[in-house]
Amino acid sequence: MATTERLVIVGAGQAGFAAAAKLRALKDDRPITMIGAEDVHPYQRPPLSKKYLLGDMSFDRLLFRPEQWYADNNVEIRLSTWVEEIRRDEKQVLLQDGVVLDYGTLLLATGSTPRQLPASIGGTLDGVYVMRDKRDADLLAEAMLPGRRVLIIGGGYIGLEAAAVARYRGLEVTVIEMADRILQRTSASQTADIIRSIHAAHDVVIREKTGLDHLIGKDDHVIGGKLSDGTVIDVDCVIVGIGVTPNDQIADMAGLDVKNGIVVDDFGRTSDPSIFAAGDCASFPWQDGRIRFESVQNAVDQAEAVAAVIAGGGAPYRPKPWFWSDQYDVKLQIAGFNLGYDQTLLRPGAREGSYSVWYFKAGEFVSVDAINDATAYVVGRKLLELGISPDKVALADPGCDLKQLLPRVRPLEETA
Ligand SMILES: Cc1cc2nc3c(=O)[nH]c(=O)nc-3n(C[C@H](O)[C@H](O)[C@H](O)COP(=O)(O)OP(=O)(O)OC[C@H]3O[C@@H](n4cnc5c(N)ncnc54)[C@H](O)[C@@H]3O)c2cc1C
Repeated sequence: MATTERLVIVGAGQAGFAAAAKLRALKDDRPITMIGAEDVHPYQRPPLSKKYLLGDMSFDRLLFRPEQWYADNNVEIRLSTWVEEIRRDEKQVLLQDGVVLDYGTLLLATGSTPRQLPASIGGTLDGVYVMRDKRDADLLAEAMLPGRRVLIIGGGYIGLEAAAVARYRGLEVTVIEMADRILQRTSASQTADIIRSIHAAHDVVIREKTGLDHLIGKDDHVIGGKLSDGTVIDVDCVIVGIGVTPNDQIADMAGLDVKNGIVVDDFGRTSDPSIFAAGDCASFPWQDGRIRFESVQNAVDQAEAVAAVIAGGGAPYRPKPWFWSDQYDVKLQIAGFNLGYDQTLLRPGAREGSYSVWYFKAGEFVSVDAINDATAYVVGRKLLELGISPDKVALADPGCDLKQLLPRVRPLEETA
């Protein structure tokens, strides 16, 4: 397809890159300009809190494509600058460096920003870190020296992955979680119990139902934390992992519909038909409401769905959520989305240390957490794709081969 209509992509991250690559794969040759606030070409974030932070993976291996790919594919990429304003009437964006670019179509793939602690409780002291980009990971890696004491605020995936890396790097680790338990927002108590015991075995101190009152500083550097139960602990550094907020400010300023993210329809289109959004920043229709997903699966699949629409075809985006987390030598894989489950079933896996937790809502299977259990993950994902709820009696029987829960594919001679 030959067209001269320029697509401007705001945000050179997972979703922005996926959209550009998909358009080229669809043989759509319109000019593309991608604008990225960071000073590096698009890369994958998940290893930042895993192998990259540990020093086991070089940055080159995080890049989606080498620099040359962009020139070879006629994708202009402008780094270290950002879009400050969308001028919808003129179909232009204004960059921070003063450059004004025309667009035919605009894709907002601006991601999200970690929540910070307020300055009033010590959030701006030196030694307090968040985890979102390469720069954050590099700063944190410098601070993670053996023997140091780190306080991790938030027992979600980012905090727990950082805890595992910190232990591998020889730090003393305390995690505080103000909710009743770790992983409260994303997982059932059975999964949390398993993950908690793995951290305990690595001497991580996890304090649940415990918030932060304030951080204590000396000469502008953090040296301690007063917890909500009155305890004071000495620390050398702090990692804040208390969730993210969508980067929807420029959309909001431009008068687009924004509500905990940029509001889009099933096709990723915003309230302005020539502007799309995808990835962490986009709030899309899901069941009876709207949702934002913060995952690689969503960023890639939604961006590719939007690219297909921009290319002139496309179908509504129907997410098939999956997610993973690596902590120590434990791989947690999640298929489906467990929003509002009412029943769970814990199943031991075939080998020691492997488990799966199956979630049901009104009798329907909605998701599975597989802990060192690739079979449970693969079978669960397949069942979700097929829209089949497994037989719970068979599922609860550790002797039952999970693969038997999948519909039998009849050999050709039987179907003839
Ligand atoms: C440490 C870490 C570990 C993670 N681990 C996992 C995991 O194990 N599994 C999983 O599924 N997901 C994981 N995620 C989540 C996943 O990486 C994100 O959901 C995904 O990157 C979202 O893609 P995105 O394109 O929406 O945003 P991003 O990849 O964040 O890209 C957005 C980009 O836009 C830029 N930007 C923002 N505003 C502007 C502007 N106005 N102008 C120009 N540029 C702008 C930002 O600087 C950023 O570079 C992890 C995330 C982090 C931070």
